Amino acid sequence: MQIKTRKQDPKSPYFQPDIETMPVEKLKKLQFDLLKKQVTNVYNSNPYFKKVYDAAGFNPKDLKSLDDVVKIPFMEKSTVREGYPTKIVTGDMGQMREMHSTSGTTGKPVLIFATENDIDLWADRNARELWMVGVRPGHIFLNSFGYGLPTGGFGFHYGAQRMGACPIPLSGGQSDRMVDILVDLPVHSFCATPSFALYVGQKAHEKGFDLAKDSTCKVSLHGAEPWPWATRVKIEELFGVTAYDEFGMTEFLGPGMTCECEARTEEMPQKMHAWADHLLAECINPDTGKPVGDGQDGEMVWTYLVNTGTPLIRYRSRDLASLTWEVCPCGRTHPRMAAIKGRSDDAVSISGLIVFPSQVEEALTPFPEMGANFRIIVETDQRGMDLFTLKVELKDKAYLSDENLVKGLAQKMKEAVKAVTDVNPKVVELIGPDELPRATKGEGKTASARVDDRRKK
Ligand code: ZN
Repeated sequence: MQIKTRKQDPKSPYFQPDIETMPVEKLKKLQFDLLKKQVTNVYNSNPYFKKVYDAAGFNPKDLKSLDDVVKIPFMEKSTVREGYPTKIVTGDMGQMREMHSTSGTTGKPVLIFATENDIDLWADRNARELWMVGVRPGHIFLNSFGYGLPTGGFGFHYGAQRMGACPIPLSGGQSDRMVDILVDLPVHSFCATPSFALYVGQKAHEKGFDLAKDSTCKVSLHGAEPWPWATRVKIEELFGVTAYDEFGMTEFLGPGMTCECEARTEEMPQKMHAWADHLLAECINPDTGKPVGDGQDGEMVWTYLVNTGTPLIRYRSRDLASLTWEVCPCGRTHPRMAAIKGRSDDAVSISGLIVFPSQVEEALTPFPEMGANFRIIVETDQRGMDLFTLKVELKDKAYLSDENLVKGLAQKMKEAVKAVTDVNPKVVELIGPDELPRATKGEGKTASARVDDRRKK
């Protein structure tokens, strides 16, 4: 596809000012109108959606306000797979101009079809993101995301064309050529996975270049894998750039879902704007399916408000993050999402808060008395509240005969766990080594092996 360039004053901080700074109430009204239209359309024109909605007792007429979104049944990866290959596609197949796909490593892939209009809107979202981090018309943008079935390379390619920049479709895995291009051409910005960026920086050093001095790069965009702030600092030093985080899922055409703005700081919990005029982002408690409060951790659920090719609606991502509508200093009104913390399959919800076994491990490991294993036990007490007990193995059974040590240690562990998870274990029970049942091979680090959830569902 050739994307038409749309002109914008390079001095404007926003590519689409009216949309990016739309008052929140107006933005939410737009979301509701688009949601109603989308759901009504799929119900009336696609037998797959009609069957699912009828079975759940949901009718699009039930949508009276945006809060009613909770009435719409979730889509899961498994249910979407049942729609393979084209049952979810809405509209005439002859209208499709591009298809992308998830990897399908754990079963049938999810195929995503896009119409000309879907691609056009995708270009807009990516243009906004590139503009937001400082790319302007005439700039050269080096794109090292893969061009193929996953959407990586295409989103920013279209976005760069839309805003009048020049994308170089390097695609993935070509570190030598990337170094050459960065040294030989006046490249303004690039995108890469964080690990590939580090690799390219190292390659450049081996070739005798210092990209912070020998390239003209000012900005970089990174995504597709988790990267701590320290990695960002390292990339910024290696390339002499300001590095930004972006996040997208292939199911929603990847890049162009969420991206950091220039106002982001290390301290900001939620750094990435999610484009609310195209996507409805929800954050839910993965156990109950109910919405969590603004800024609280939960599972991200996404609805495509504008895509008509493959309109995923209330799609459970299993990604854990948080979402806030708090005003951002950059002036954009679209909500912000935190970087993905982990998968909901690996977490447990206690008293409405998400707890990862890995967090508990992080809290307990500094104690020299700690043995090899622990177990999180969650029960329901008489008042119907969650009761959180932690069983911790000690290195040596002899510790248990020292009553004062046991008492003090249990208290300190309690405090350490509370500090990391925000949830207070009611009881920390210390036990001898090897008293907990061993996890079967391969599941030692998963939630199922470290969490004993005895609550009635
Ligand atoms: Zn912002």
